[in-house]
Amino acid sequence: MDKINILVVEDEKNILEVIKTYLVKEGYSVITAEDGKNALNLFESEDIHLIILDLMLPKISGEEVCNIIRAKSDIPIIMLTAKVEEDDKVHGLSIGADDYVTKPFSPRELVGRVKALIRRSYRDSSPLAEILIFNNGDLEIDLNKRLVKKRGKKVYLTTKEFDILVSLLRNPGKVFTREQLIESAFGYDYDGFDRTIDTHIKNIRQKIEDNPKNPSYIITVYGLGYKFGGV
Ligand code: CA
Repeated sequence: MDKINILVVEDEKNILEVIKTYLVKEGYSVITAEDGKNALNLFESEDIHLIILDLMLPKISGEEVCNIIRAKSDIPIIMLTAKVEEDDKVHGLSIGADDYVTKPFSPRELVGRVKALIRRSYRDSSPLAEILIFNNGDLEIDLNKRLVKKRGKKVYLTTKEFDILVSLLRNPGKVFTREQLIESAFGYDYDGFDRTIDTHIKNIRQKIEDNPKNPSYIITVYGLGYKFGGV
């Protein structure tokens, strides 16, 4: 990771500025949002590594933002809450935040929490990230983060879809029968019919192909199975 991008979501401008100043001083790159809707848009369009999220936000609450993001990503999230009750602490963590900080807080403490959470969340990712890029950046796959981008925009594959795609692209050009693909992606004990692969393939194509009916990544080899056609 060259630069760590932090999304700070806070509707109180002065608090937002203080947080930003402290994080930038520590060498982080900071993107800001003042409401929940904008936060979700930025999460989709930018490459974010950690989110600092205020609980009470206009348009979409911090809690809801957290829920929506958690449904698709395990990105580290620190919740900011103005309430001091112990209940909120428990609640903040139960909706999927990794840590929480109660207002008023010391910016130094927040920076400390950020550093600790970054260390915890990314310590296993090797400096040589396994990112595969196909067709001049049209399709980008981060094998460590299990992240797929189509034309720079994140697309969300299910675990099975991702595993199928990775099995194919690890052997570009190799034709997999449905049985081989199941074995390669899910292992022997997978308890499904060969044809369920077709449904997964159809879904993956919807997400990564320009034209799912005339695919360039997952090619049907008639009578045999599938192969990966990306270069
Ligand atoms: Ca607020």
